[in-house]
Amino acid sequence: RPTILWLRRDLRLSDHPALVAAVERGGPVIPVFIRDDSVDRLGAAPRWRLGLSLEDLAARLADKGSRLIFRAGPAREVLRDLVKEAGAGAVYWSRLYDPEAIERDTDVKSLLKDEGIEAESFEGHVLFEPWTVETGQGGYYKVYSPMWRAVKDREVPEALSTPSKIPAPESWPESDKLEDWQLGAAMNRGAAVCLPHQRVGEEAAQGRLGWFAGHAIGDYKTGRNMVADEGCSGLSENLTYGEISPRQCWHAGWRAVEEGAEGAETWVKELVWREFAYHLIYHTPQITERNWREGWDRFPWEEKEDRQSVLRWKQGRTGVPFVDAAMREMYVTGKMHNRARMIVASYLTKHMMTHWEIGKRWFEDCLTDWDPASNALGWQWTAGCGPDAAPYFRIFNPETQAEKFDKDGTYRRRWIAEGQSRPTKTALSYFEAIPRSWGLSPDDAYPGEPVVGLQEGRKQALAAYEARDF
Ligand code: FAD
Repeated sequence: RPTILWLRRDLRLSDHPALVAAVERGGPVIPVFIRDDSVDRLGAAPRWRLGLSLEDLAARLADKGSRLIFRAGPAREVLRDLVKEAGAGAVYWSRLYDPEAIERDTDVKSLLKDEGIEAESFEGHVLFEPWTVETGQGGYYKVYSPMWRAVKDREVPEALSTPSKIPAPESWPESDKLEDWQLGAAMNRGAAVCLPHQRVGEEAAQGRLGWFAGHAIGDYKTGRNMVADEGCSGLSENLTYGEISPRQCWHAGWRAVEEGAEGAETWVKELVWREFAYHLIYHTPQITERNWREGWDRFPWEEKEDRQSVLRWKQGRTGVPFVDAAMREMYVTGKMHNRARMIVASYLTKHMMTHWEIGKRWFEDCLTDWDPASNALGWQWTAGCGPDAAPYFRIFNPETQAEKFDKDGTYRRRWIAEGQSRPTKTALSYFEAIPRSWGLSPDDAYPGEPVVGLQEGRKQALAAYEARDF
């Protein structure tokens, strides 16, 4: 009897334990992707990017004589129907760790088991499953560095190969057409502008990992901070949809360490930040929606989203060039350099004293590498209310940061057209991407005054911090 392989954030064929197990079980394998509310809840850019990933995976499966079946509806109902239609004996999937996924998957598992169907979940999305990493006292890690020390010498199994054959059923169940789902419908920006900035699918991800491990990883320690350079791997969009596995990255990183690449261990450490984020979303699921440290519920953050200053932050028109360049980079490319993420998040939550959730939601809508765990941790870390967070009183100064990490202004010129006699193509592409309703043009004057001055904002934030009663 066939095995249904329920795909979610594991859109690859290599190093895929659930796929390998499905093939080894014997009998046909029916890969399915379900458009349930977890897909409908995605922001505009990640939903659009998901569609690109699915298109790529469907083509790769077709090359192997298989198919990707598309169905829409609540997962439990879709799977129950599909099991019946296909006469399947098992449903396999790769585990996820965010609270909504856990609730859904637990429900699906018990439903299938009640109906006598084998329902099994597999690892693959993280290196170390959250319950396998414990502090000496038996709890979870709330601080990154000891977690890194606890896992860095662990044996991680080698990545699995792609099965040479994926047996097909005699007849395929019906499938929706991916195009009919219109996953890009909410992208109210020129998707054509954003498309060239995406590196979609397993083959592209593997190629990029190979390039990065061969050419850039050695300089990562310094290169990773230079916002205008290609000093980082750019693999976050592939990791989030599972187009590449963290295990493949981990081994490539350690191999580079063995070959003497100096910055390689620093890069592997970043992979463990992703693990830390998953560890936290599993053990403290409230991290996605509430201040991780409860005392911060009493902090006087501005919570109104429709303020002019918030709109200007979203549009990259705060008048602080580093912040604006970064916000525009995200709007056009779906990604933003890590250092820039920290700076825009700090400016919003500290200088503008605005609740981090407003920023987190905007990132959710704009990032093609959106990840439930890393985004929540990134915001709470920067805002100062999260686990192992940068203390609130440590406030990034975007000007000093620009002097250090964008010394010659390349990054700012790349994204800000206003005031340049010959604006760069990328800076102009922002105006092609934004909705007309924003009413902005490259000929506008660049804001003369920042929405909040750097000194004034810093003073205000520190005063609020000192006056807090927790
Ligand atoms: P590299 O520098 O090459 O690092 C390799 C991999 O390590 C990354 O692909 C990523 O998977 C992981 N990693 C690196 N830094 C971090 C980090 N600080 N936290 C967790 N994992 C990390 N990352 C996302 O993948 N999705 C998000 O939605 C997201 N939102 C963020 C929001 C804020 C406010 C901040 C400060 C950070 C956020 N990050 C997020 C983390 C980080 O900025 C990105 O992972 C990184 O910029 C991706 O670029 P890269 O792939 O070139 O990373």
